[in-house]
This record gives sequence, structure tokens and C-alpha cells, in this order.
Amino acid sequence: MYDVIVIGAGPAGTTAAAACARSGLKTLCIEEHGTIGYPVQCAGLLSCAAFTECRVSKRPVLNSVSGARVVSPSGNEILIDAKTRKAVVTDRGALDREMAEHAANAGAEFCIKTAAYDVRGTSLLTRGVSGHQEIPFRLLIAADGPRSSIARIFGMPRARTYLAGIQADLVHECDSRFVEIYPGASPDFFGWMIPISSGRVRIGLCSQTGVPDLFAAFRKKFGESSTHLVTGTLPLGVMPRTYGHRTLFTGDAAGFAKPTSGGGVYTGIRSARHAAGVAITCCEADQFTDAALAAYEQRWQEDIGRELDLGFRLFQLRRKISAEEMDALIRALNDPEIIRMITEYGDMDRPGTLIKKLMVKPGILRCAPPLLRSGLRSLFRL
Ligand SMILES: Cc1cc2nc3c(=O)[nH]c(=O)nc-3n(C[C@H](O)[C@H](O)[C@H](O)COP(=O)(O)OP(=O)(O)OC[C@H]3O[C@@H](n4cnc5c(N)ncnc54)[C@H](O)[C@@H]3O)c2cc1C
Repeated sequence: MYDVIVIGAGPAGTTAAAACARSGLKTLCIEEHGTIGYPVQCAGLLSCAAFTECRVSKRPVLNSVSGARVVSPSGNEILIDAKTRKAVVTDRGALDREMAEHAANAGAEFCIKTAAYDVRGTSLLTRGVSGHQEIPFRLLIAADGPRSSIARIFGMPRARTYLAGIQADLVHECDSRFVEIYPGASPDFFGWMIPISSGRVRIGLCSQTGVPDLFAAFRKKFGESSTHLVTGTLPLGVMPRTYGHRTLFTGDAAGFAKPTSGGGVYTGIRSARHAAGVAITCCEADQFTDAALAAYEQRWQEDIGRELDLGFRLFQLRRKISAEEMDALIRALNDPEIIRMITEYGDMDRPGTLIKKLMVKPGILRCAPPLLRSGLRSLFRL
């Protein structure tokens, strides 16, 4: 009998497994693929704070960036340069594998090339290299990514929206200090160019529909031939209830990716640490009722709940902005004082502070296009 079975060995799963095993719980982590971290479904861009949360060596780091160039639909640009390292570009496969090694070193057992497909009472049903197994548990942590089988098995209401993502690595000359953001590349999100080095980039975009055509148009700027192609799903808007049925849902399985950027490693790891904390308490008290598990939701809400909620409302607003309005907004933001504020207060993981500061800056709302202005006014009650 395992105290905790974690389903999924992505960053959320291995963080939860490491924390549970370190506290002495008998912990098993199940991963359906034979190689942890493969296939990669990520751009690998992590703020310095997010990278620190991973608690790994610098080996997965491929490049460091100090800022971003935002390119409007009509080609106007804003350059934000903090002149110091703000984020790292990582090899996500290597990152995931190192995180899994740390969890194994902490005492977590791993069962790879094994997929969880059902739950019968307090046993998890799996199939894989060892055939069919029925593994008893006291508590489950579902960290099985955006398509979470565990959430489906229990019929849990899921994340509010799903975007499809596509990304290619290509040979392309760039300034390796800056990420490039293209809001015009997608009607409901944005396109990106992430420098791996001065001669190689990752370009991609997310959108709800029409992704292949949008991507075909976007990649013309950069080139046709790619050495690595990634497709993936981005769940946005945390599921209405992140616990139940002796299970805590973390990371993408619960829809924890940030709705403003699509980054899910930081919030996934934060949610996993809270899940592990509650798992430890529940196992010690031998209490697995919904009332006991609800402490998890309280913990993540206090930590990242407001940011995720604001982010989702901004995401909904962004979808209503036309290309012309986006142009007007980017022109309005191209002001030295505003750029200074972005540089000073910008935080990829917690953008709420910057946005609130920008909202009280005279001129921002005046310059914003009408729809955005009324949306921001009601969002911030101005
Ligand atoms: C195109 C794209 C680009 C992105 N870029 C970034 C970025 O630059 N920065 C960032 O922070 N985030 C980015 N993200 C989001 C990020 O990849 C995810 O938020 C993050 O991987 C979530 O981690 P996780 O551990 O919750 O889930 P995952 O990393 O998806 O891990 C889930 C694991 O569970 C396993 N699994 C699934 N079902 C089962 C099962 N039934 N049994 C056993 N194992 C199972 C899977 O194989 C997988 O290994 C991007 C996403 C996309 C789609």
C-alpha cells in the first residue's frame, strides 16, 4: 500500500513526489512514457524565480534573456530591456529528468512506461511494461497534464478553456538577449520567438482554432526548415474544484497555467508543493474526506489564486481586442516612463502588481482603445 501515488512525472508530479517522499511517505510516481520529459511540449522559457522553484542544477539552461521585444500587428515595436538576467531558456526534457532524479533520490519510487487508466475503490489500475496492475493507495495526486485521465475518470469539471499550441526550433539569426512577442500572430493569444542562442530560435503560437494556418503564416518570417516540432495543449482557468475522491489535482491537470503567458511550470510547481503539504497532513491524520482535502484549495488560492483569476479575466479581454486596437495599445505603451515601470515592476509569474500600477498611470486608459478601456475599467473598478 502506498501512502501517495502521483500520476505523471512532469514538473508538478515530481515536485509533489519529492516532497511526499522526503517527509517519509511511501510514494510512487507513475509515468506513461518510457523517457521522462519526452515528448517536450513546452517552449522552456522560465523566469528566474520559476527556474529556482525547479531546484535543479544549471545544466538544463541553454540561454539567458534580459527582456522582450513586443512587435505589434502592423510592425511597431517596444523594447523592454532590464539589462540583467530575467529569465532562462531551458531544455525542458533535461529539466524534467533532473527533477525526477531528485524525487527518486528523496525516496520516491518510479514506475515508468506505465499508464493509469482507472480507479477501483482505493486501488489505481495501470497498464504498461509490467502488464496490468492494481496498486493500493491512501491518496492520489493527479499531475497527469492537460488531458488528465484521472479528472475524466472521476468526471470532474475541467479547466475553462483549452488552447492548442505549436512550436518549431529553427536556424535563425537573432539577438539572444531578447524574447520576441507577436500579439498579431494569434487572435486570442500571441506568437513567440525565443532565442536558444544567437543562431537558433524557438518560434510558436497558441490559439483556440486555426492553429496550423496561423502557424504557417507566422513562420514565414523565420524560415521553413525546423529540427524539432512541438504540439501541445494549454489548459487555462483552474478547474472549479481541485480536490475530491481522495485526490488532489495539480499543474496542468487542474488548469494552473498562467492565462497571460501560458507558462505553467511555476504555477504547476507551486500547486504541487501545496498538494504535497496537504497530502502529508492528511496521511498523518489518516483523514481523506473532502473536508480534509479542501485545505489544498485554500493554500493555493492564498498563494496564486488572485493572480490566476486576474490573468484569466485579462485573457478574456485580450480575445476581444482587434489587431487595430492592439496596435493602438502598443503605441500607447511605447512611452519611456511606462517602459521604465514595466522594467521595474514586471514579473512574468505575478504580473498583477505591474498591471495595477499601469492602470493608475494617467494616460494609459485615455490612450487605450474604447473596448479595452471599458474592460479594464470594470476589471479594476476604476
Ligand atoms: C506549446 C507550448 C509551449 C509552452 N511553453 C511554456 C514555457 O515556455 N514556460 C512554461 O512555464 N510553460 C510552458 N508551457 C506550459 C507547460 O509546458 C505546462 O504548463 C507544464 O508542463 C505543466 O506541467 P505538469 O507537470 O502539470 O504537466 P506535464 O508536464 O504535461 O506532465 C504530465 C505528465 O503526466 C504523464 N501522464 C499523462 N497521463 C498519464 C497517465 N494516465 N498515466 C501516467 N502518466 C500520465 C505525461 O506523460 C506527462 O509526463 C507550454 C505549453 C505548450 C503547449
